[in-house]
Amino acid sequence: MKGHRLILTVAAALMAALAVALLQGCTADTPGVELADEDQAALESLGYVANEIQHAGGTDPAKKVLVLGIDGMDWILASRLIDEGKLPRFQALAREGGFSPMLSSIPPQSPVAWSNFITGADPGSHGIFDFMHRDPETYLPYLSTSKAESAPDKAKVFGFIPVKNEFSMPFTDYVFPLAGGAALNLRRGVAFWQVLEAAGIPCTVFKIPSNFPPVPSEKGLVRSMSGMGTPDILGTYGTFSFYTTDPWPGSDDLSGGYVYEVDVVDNVVEATLYGPPNDFKDYEKIEERQGKPVAYDEKKVGIDFTVYVDPSNPVARLDIGTEEVLLKEGEFTDWVEVEFVMVPNLVTVKGLARFYLKQTHPEFELYCTPVQIHPVEQVLPITDPPEYGKELVDAVGFFYTQNMPEDTKALEHGVFDNDIFTRQSKIVFDERLELFRYELSRFDEGLLYFYFGSLDQSTHMMWRCMDPSHPNYKPEEDAAFADYLENLYIKFDSVLGEVVDSLDDNTTLIVLSDHGFAPYYRKFHLNRWLYDEGYLVLKPGVRPERVEWLLGIDWTQTRAYGIGINALYINTQGRESQGIVRPGREANELIDEIAAKLEQVRDPESDKRVVITAYKTSECYHGPYTKTAPDVILGYGRGYRGSDKTAGGGVGMEWITDNEDEWSGDHCMDYLHVPGVLFTNKSIASEQPALYDMAPTILAEFGIAKRNWMVGSSVFQTEENRLAGR
Ligand SMILES: [Zn+2]
Repeated sequence: MKGHRLILTVAAALMAALAVALLQGCTADTPGVELADEDQAALESLGYVANEIQHAGGTDPAKKVLVLGIDGMDWILASRLIDEGKLPRFQALAREGGFSPMLSSIPPQSPVAWSNFITGADPGSHGIFDFMHRDPETYLPYLSTSKAESAPDKAKVFGFIPVKNEFSMPFTDYVFPLAGGAALNLRRGVAFWQVLEAAGIPCTVFKIPSNFPPVPSEKGLVRSMSGMGTPDILGTYGTFSFYTTDPWPGSDDLSGGYVYEVDVVDNVVEATLYGPPNDFKDYEKIEERQGKPVAYDEKKVGIDFTVYVDPSNPVARLDIGTEEVLLKEGEFTDWVEVEFVMVPNLVTVKGLARFYLKQTHPEFELYCTPVQIHPVEQVLPITDPPEYGKELVDAVGFFYTQNMPEDTKALEHGVFDNDIFTRQSKIVFDERLELFRYELSRFDEGLLYFYFGSLDQSTHMMWRCMDPSHPNYKPEEDAAFADYLENLYIKFDSVLGEVVDSLDDNTTLIVLSDHGFAPYYRKFHLNRWLYDEGYLVLKPGVRPERVEWLLGIDWTQTRAYGIGINALYINTQGRESQGIVRPGREANELIDEIAAKLEQVRDPESDKRVVITAYKTSECYHGPYTKTAPDVILGYGRGYRGSDKTAGGGVGMEWITDNEDEWSGDHCMDYLHVPGVLFTNKSIASEQPALYDMAPTILAEFGIAKRNWMVGSSVFQTEENRLAGR
């Protein structure tokens, strides 16, 4: 997940910091999970001492655990399809083993939820509270799971590179200060596979979210590929290019994509594919020479390409670099390797792209995927060890490496329609399945965790097609796709069949999702509501519709604000740089007051409650990072969600509006109302399995006691054993 449209907007600006790291050496070391000293000490005092972790006596050394992570598989939908006999393999697994709803995290967002799964703890221990966090010093938002880290030493390797610890880029009307350097994984805490590795158990961890860059293996027993959080070559969460003779109003300012106007001259199109900014150049000198600043877009390295359009047939030939590619209207090409030249003859950055010729005549329309980080020549670390990328390419060929590769933005902006989107999604699914089959075929010891994101992304975008009551349901286009999601569940049923047929008696199988799904009909604009209620105050002369990124807010009078999809913060003295609410009693009373009011908010159209529960994090989080958490997590009712506007720190004109986006299903609601699934080939003893139970469950399968920071327990344990501490 993640995977969320607002993030794609924000990512374009914020993840650009990562692009800088692209230029500062291909072997960027991965700081991995780094804890502040005090927090590391806290965790060690709780029992994480790697060299003391041992197998319990008598555990079968041939024991294996296979975990299939199917992001977004919904308990309600899955149960219905099982009842209708449409998922025979899931049905058999449920009958012979176990099937249960799976409690998600608070909030049920994928990076948070999978971090609960990874650490066996809640956000108070792993520090991921939402897709979006804010710096309490500057109030500037940033993506929560990874960031660029200043690394001047690396730049020195290439003596001539101008070392820059800070640069800025224009985004909408604002300028963001960004730091350059290597990528840093911001998830805190210890992953369960680190515990397994410490006990000598080999692990493969494929595309688990909140693991970019991948945690480095200590003993060489873990192979991992990063998932949600992994950028494209621009450093964003995915930015497509679209070349057209027919641009439309507003197409020059899209989130998650660039539209370029091109001309067809004598059946030839000349255009450029853009890569990361070239920080190998000394822009200070250039700016001095030309007497004006160099814009961010001008710093990007381009590859010129030529398309020869057949004058009468719907085909064309693309010449890019040394490659010649045949384009057929309505078809995606295979992967094309592209090479961006940073310093001629010295430094190049390689990537992968696929093209889609949407139209040849009368208009020319060519789509290009976000350029992928090359899995063999990784400009940012996406596998650990690095050679694992080559192993995968040798086994199955090239594949999407960015997180959440389904191009939801192309569909949102009308570059794709339902048909093109579902075909592109099929490419993603088929590639992933080949990778899975490869891993399954070589799985003969330890742990295999493998992640599929297709169901999550497709349910976000295609929910409206099966739900005529959605504000964005268009019968003429959508009715034909009413069964699309059901058929995707059926596809996963056949994947499960392959898995079950390959299992031996030593293997525990766990199939789970991180959350379920609900319709997303109405958008709640939290910051506008706080503004109307007098908790959020704007600086004189600032119009609410102009506010973005929390800029324009008068912090000297603001008591509460929202950032991210579910988070509300109190502007607290001593925490926020301009906090005005005293911590302790004053803050607690304010939290209670706002939470109570929010739970009373009713949709003026339906009279339904918008917020079911406003969760106070001081009551539901444990661990050293609770103090940095949002103060309240909003648990929305099914049908409602925090708007993208609020999530990006905007205020806007209205506090509730219809959702008319293609992004029509969601799960960032009250976690009790969007349960995921848990299937196993053993019976489940726990009455209410939760994501943070799964790390202790996996450890227990290998005979390893749960670690003291873990808040859950093995789902296979009876309550009696649990109470006895076994
Ligand atoms: Zn999602």
